[in-house]
Amino acid sequence: MREKGKLIVLSGPSGAGKSTVVFKAMEGREDFCFSTSVTTRKPRPGEVDGREYFFIDRERYDQMVDRGELLEHAEYVNNGYGTPRAFVEQRLAEGMNVVLDIEIQGARQVYEKMPDAVMIFLIPPSLEELRRRLEGRGTDTQEAIEGRLARARQEYEEARFYRYIVVNEVVDKAAAEFLAIVTAEHCRASDRLHLLK
Ligand code: 5GP
Repeated sequence: MREKGKLIVLSGPSGAGKSTVVFKAMEGREDFCFSTSVTTRKPRPGEVDGREYFFIDRERYDQMVDRGELLEHAEYVNNGYGTPRAFVEQRLAEGMNVVLDIEIQGARQVYEKMPDAVMIFLIPPSLEELRRRLEGRGTDTQEAIEGRLARARQEYEEARFYRYIVVNEVVDKAAAEFLAIVTAEHCRASDRLHLLK
């Protein structure tokens, strides 16, 4: 019997390295797919519609919310973000592990609707290290960096409902831990009781 896929929710402060870790973990893995979100924010240079996000206008976003087409949705820095429901449900039914890279309010909605979702919070080794990474990127003003650090501290307070915490000190190790968590989740007895019949 084919196992159902796992819904994996990955959150963490901006600068923790979520996309790097998840794409490293998914390399060569055909049992994983990434859920591309919709957003009302404008594409950054180099971002491609349908790859990083589906970039949509506020009208279409509101329509998706009203029609229940989003599994979860949240406002983040004045823009709407959401996870298209149909894609996720279809892939899970096919047995794929589906990864959502979403912020904490949306993660809480998923957790409440689907308590079996695998909730992972990715953090940098320390907030000082996070500051160094954000400064090293060179894409944010000092004020924006302070804002992101303040937000990270607030997220740490709210993140107690995640089941796992992965520290991204070395990407390969964090990716290995991510995969180990998913493997362990597939071995849960509650999912395998049919094997004891
Ligand atoms: P950015 O604009 O930097 O790409 O993303 C900002 C934040 O939005 C990140 O924390 C990212 O994880 C989160 N995010 C991206 N897609 C979604 C989504 O579909 N739903 C929610 N709730 N958050 C999302």
